[in-house]
Amino acid sequence: MKKRIAILGCGTTGIHLTYELLSERRYDVTIFTPQSSEEVRSGRIRSTQVHFSSTIAREHRYHMPEWPNAQELHAVHVSVGGHTLFAGPLDKPAYSVDQRLYFSKCMHHLERQGVRFVYDKVSFDDLSRLVEQFDLVVDCTGRAGPVAPFPLDSSLSPLSSPLRKCNVGYFLGVKTAEPIGIIAHIIPGEGELFEIPALTERGPVTILFVEAIPGRKLDVFDKTQNAHDFCSIILNLTESFFPEIRERINVSQFRLCDELAYLRVAIRPKVHTPYCTVNGKWVVGCGDSVVLNDPITGQGDNTCSYMTEALFFALMEDIDSTWDESTFQRYWDTTKPYVRHVVGWSHAMMQPLPKPILDMIMKGSENPAVARRIANWFRIPSSAYNDFFHENDMHQNTWGEK
Ligand SMILES: Cc1cc2nc3c(=O)[nH]c(=O)nc-3n(C[C@H](O)[C@H](O)[C@H](O)COP(=O)(O)OP(=O)(O)OC[C@H]3O[C@@H](n4cnc5c(N)ncnc54)[C@H](O)[C@@H]3O)c2cc1C
Repeated sequence: MKKRIAILGCGTTGIHLTYELLSERRYDVTIFTPQSSEEVRSGRIRSTQVHFSSTIAREHRYHMPEWPNAQELHAVHVSVGGHTLFAGPLDKPAYSVDQRLYFSKCMHHLERQGVRFVYDKVSFDDLSRLVEQFDLVVDCTGRAGPVAPFPLDSSLSPLSSPLRKCNVGYFLGVKTAEPIGIIAHIIPGEGELFEIPALTERGPVTILFVEAIPGRKLDVFDKTQNAHDFCSIILNLTESFFPEIRERINVSQFRLCDELAYLRVAIRPKVHTPYCTVNGKWVVGCGDSVVLNDPITGQGDNTCSYMTEALFFALMEDIDSTWDESTFQRYWDTTKPYVRHVVGWSHAMMQPLPKPILDMIMKGSENPAVARRIANWFRIPSSAYNDFFHENDMHQNTWGEK
């Protein structure tokens, strides 16, 4: 008999997990989510959603929809204080597809494959009922969650407030820099601006994503009332701080691709142990609901996707017995080292950069192997963690070889 799984939430986590479960014909999946695919498609942007190579490989492995029109991102450019230092090649390409488009297409596709959707926001009382009706409930409610009372892991949650204010817009009228990729503009002491070519329903756009240190000079979005305000503020910022971007903007064409193509959010990173009991039944958490990070390193979607596959494997391993604490402990034992690396690197990126890392970044401008290694931090976050936290490794002459 098929196991009945309830998935709360239909973001990257809920979607990836559902495709993984469908790859074995042993699960009957119901997704509970407040918005229909049409509401998601016509709603506000949610992310900058760069998917790096291991996430893309998983999308292929589990036969998820493909995005042939998405621009492949082949490099990570780094500029510090307005000076372009280098463009390091990504060993495998990345891409960014507007989550509004990605989610709504996946929702249609999943519905056609027999996944049942219940358009409802789940409360804790609902959860108490759902645990009786399903073999397992997985809480994938993202940063609005979790619904289940997962215990906070204080060793991985050292911050009591956000260290950045995130301001994102999807723009027309910005000429793409070559080689096509992500551009990280770092203004020490003020914050960062990430530039990312992306695909939306309306075609290609350039994402401009300002990570402003609260109270500093890039933190100027508080008076934003509408799309027009957001555009003017970003344009002014490029004039003052990012002249290289300003040179590539055609002012007469510069606008958001739609009225809801901007987002303002501030995230307090936190990690929960991703399993607990409700009414004596196990509930598991996956993705942002249990591992929430500031997006400075662009790892959220990639971590969600990593976690879903680890959970899927843990569930498969015990499919013929009863899922119990050992199943979920194994899932967390597998994912925690990766989570620790992403969290550690992301936290470090929001602090003043350590001198060895600054030296390494400067060295990237004259040493292509170093530039390549830095670019691939984003593909393999553990390599970034090692470079930040094990100085000895960093000074070996093996950059770009791992
Ligand atoms: C500004 C910004 C930029 C980012 N850039 C990147 C990037 O470049 N690369 C990257 O990898 N990651 C990035 N991220 C992070 C990434 O977007 C998230 O990690 C990822 O979307 C989280 O997916 P999720 O499915 O866990 O949560 P979400 O995408 O938040 O989905 C949660 C789902 O749960 C539903 N839900 C919420 N509450 C309930 C409830 N009570 N009952 C039922 N359903 C509920 C929601 O409606 C939604 O469907 C960025 C995030 C931000 C904010």
